[in-house]
Amino acid sequence: MQDLELLSMAREALSNAYAPYSDYKVGAALLTSAGRVFRGVNVENASYGLTICAERAALFSAVATGYRHFSVLAVVSEEAQKPIPCGGCLQVLREFGKDLKVIVAGKEEEFLVFKLEELLPYPFISESV
Ligand SMILES: [Zn+2]
Repeated sequence: MQDLELLSMAREALSNAYAPYSDYKVGAALLTSAGRVFRGVNVENASYGLTICAERAALFSAVATGYRHFSVLAVVSEEAQKPIPCGGCLQVLREFGKDLKVIVAGKEEEFLVFKLEELLPYPFISESV
């Protein structure tokens, strides 16, 4: 699957984002190593701390379906600034490997590509996994 196709899938999900408090909508599309795509959106809550980011929503859906190996994550927003995943999401993604490719795009077509370990060079790692 091409980067642009995955970005397009993330952008499609964007309209389902639930962000009545921040009005900052984010969509994500996570490609498994097996070729399946899981989408996620940010889901805010009146109790702000319970809000979940689009990246983790996509990841948790994939894990709940039985997938644990991922190759590419696309994250998009409607803003000019590209939505770099937050530290919490990077740590949660790192649980499943360091080689994930992360693509981010704002409202413009141009996008940036990172490796997960570039964005989170010093993760917390448990010896038990
Ligand atoms: Zn996050």
